Amino acid sequence: MKIVRFTEAGRTAYGILDGEQIKALWTTPFEGLATGWEVHALGEVELLAPCEPTKIVALGLNYRDHAVEFGREAPDEPLIFLKPGTSVIGPEAEIIYPRMSRRVDYEAELGVVIGKTARHVTEAEALDYVLGYTCVNDVTARDLQKKDGLFTRAKGFDTFAPLGPWIETEIADPDNLTVEAYLNGERRQHGNTRDMVFGVRRLISFISEIMTLLPGDVIATGTPSGVGPMRVGDVVEVRLEGVGALRNRVAAEK
Ligand code: MG
Repeated sequence: MKIVRFTEAGRTAYGILDGEQIKALWTTPFEGLATGWEVHALGEVELLAPCEPTKIVALGLNYRDHAVEFGREAPDEPLIFLKPGTSVIGPEAEIIYPRMSRRVDYEAELGVVIGKTARHVTEAEALDYVLGYTCVNDVTARDLQKKDGLFTRAKGFDTFAPLGPWIETEIADPDNLTVEAYLNGERRQHGNTRDMVFGVRRLISFISEIMTLLPGDVIATGTPSGVGPMRVGDVVEVRLEGVGALRNRVAAEK
């Protein structure tokens, strides 16, 4: 099942995508999945980010080949940072290239969307707390990341967390999915989540030992090798096997 969030005639709702049609949900998908009579054509609505996270918990160096390209070793525990809810944008929305940066990179990632409140969750029960999976572009001002040492500025600009285009609920094994980035139609990243240093169950369990994960929160599970810069006017696409493609254009800051 593909869960979308959309606006139509000034109103925002969640829905279930069925072919080219969206059946609107009565509530949020965290409360229930009941649909009514309301149906829209996919082409007639604007898709939004499929959830509204209070936080995105993101992983650093969670693929060995990416750690190697940065001259680092894989960490012995998950290395986490936060991206604010205000950094989220939806499919086809513009990534704004900040005036403050000279180097803005794409990072294609598997996003885990939390379905119910999770605290002190074991690895065995971790997937029970997942609503589904979505594409994430962990956009990064690489020059500022190097300069600051800390990640808040480099990862936290508005528009630096494209999510979507929907939440796919029918992924049997999140630890075996192809993750790719395309820049202007050319493939730049090609990895598989089986190469993550820490898999999805471990990440949920680990993070829930630290902080409460709320419905709609997203874990951005890290990026494989091949990250690189984007320029104003570029079109970047994150493709995730079994989910779909998340496309955004880069625009200058006004
Ligand atoms: Mg990342």
